[in-house]
Amino acid sequence: MGDADNFHVVLRSRPGESNEPLESNFSYEKKAYPTETLSSGDLLIKNRFLSLDPALRCRMNEDSGVQYIKAWELGKTVDGLGGVGEVIASADSSFQPGDIVTPNFEWPWELYFVVKANTVRKLPEAMTQISPTLCLSVLGVTGLTAYLGVKEKGHIRRDANQVMVVSAAAGSTGSLAGQIGKAEGCGKLVGICGSDTKCQWLTTELGFDVAINYKTENVSEKLEAVCPEGVDVYFDNVGGSISNDVIRKMNQDSHIILCGQIADYNKDLPYPPPIPTDIEATLKDKNITRERFLVLNYQDQFEPALGRLMELYVQGKLKVKETIEMGLENAGKAFVSMMKGGNIGKQIVQVTR
Ligand code: NDP
Repeated sequence: MGDADNFHVVLRSRPGESNEPLESNFSYEKKAYPTETLSSGDLLIKNRFLSLDPALRCRMNEDSGVQYIKAWELGKTVDGLGGVGEVIASADSSFQPGDIVTPNFEWPWELYFVVKANTVRKLPEAMTQISPTLCLSVLGVTGLTAYLGVKEKGHIRRDANQVMVVSAAAGSTGSLAGQIGKAEGCGKLVGICGSDTKCQWLTTELGFDVAINYKTENVSEKLEAVCPEGVDVYFDNVGGSISNDVIRKMNQDSHIILCGQIADYNKDLPYPPPIPTDIEATLKDKNITRERFLVLNYQDQFEPALGRLMELYVQGKLKVKETIEMGLENAGKAFVSMMKGGNIGKQIVQVTR
């Protein structure tokens, strides 16, 4: 198979459950090129792109705390939750060299590697021609999370003029969730995020009616000013004090999509983290639904949901932005940056061209 240079990203140290992850927790190291002959059903892959996801933070702890993903082992190759690669050699009749593939689940942060053909799927030609990274954003887990979260837990009704609020609204999931909420019929759309540039993107390009910069504005006061009628649907990506402020403004019989709680990912807390007693009381008194949403529980709906996402994307109703870091050696840096809001839209690492 030749003997090109190979590299991988290794977990060197753990940040500790209650600390921010650091670039130095990762190291970029040389690794042997996979030179063994491929066994039947194997594919040799050249890595093209990595998906970076906040859920990876729990894998940096000794115990991930969740059932569906394992903790990373110290000294071993880090693996993420998605990516794109090119088949270099194939020992499976369904795949040819040059095919562009994406994993069903895990994807190593490694330049060249061997996988079983049944753990990846070929990207449709139409998608690779537009952009193969669409499978990491709108036409992948992120888009599915936004779409199915809104559909399953949002209770959006056309012509009901509902007010929807989204936190981490300029991130990958949040930006899509807000646009989907609008496309599915909500009346007013408010995004909360961490910079003026992000706020401007939401209101000028994505159709958000209002954006709040939680780092420079008082979320509670601004919500009061822009949503005097109260909040009907809240797509919650962050938890913590931002969510407490939103929940205090929610209406009777309103709905929370409990998607993520990134404000607490660097804290030694169970998931979902506990909420203050007054917020608990508000949820009860106002009959606000707040059920945990996990996209992996809706796999039977992925196919029709991807069809609808494609339709909305082609109609120009879903705009997608990516923040691309170049080079596998910068994957750790990009992950640390994303966890602090360095990204707009989907954070991706381009490994090779
Ligand atoms: P994003 O693209 O949204 O990136 C994370 C963003 O979180 C950052 O850009 C940052 O934006 C924001 N953020 C970071 N720290 C804080 C904080 N302390 N308070 C408020 N905002 C913060 O990532 P994803 O779209 O991939 O994920 C968004 C959420 O969705 C996460 O909570 C993730 O765990 C969850 N998720 C859940 C899934 C499910 O099945 N339930 C599946 C996939 C994702 P800013 O500049 O605005 O602070």
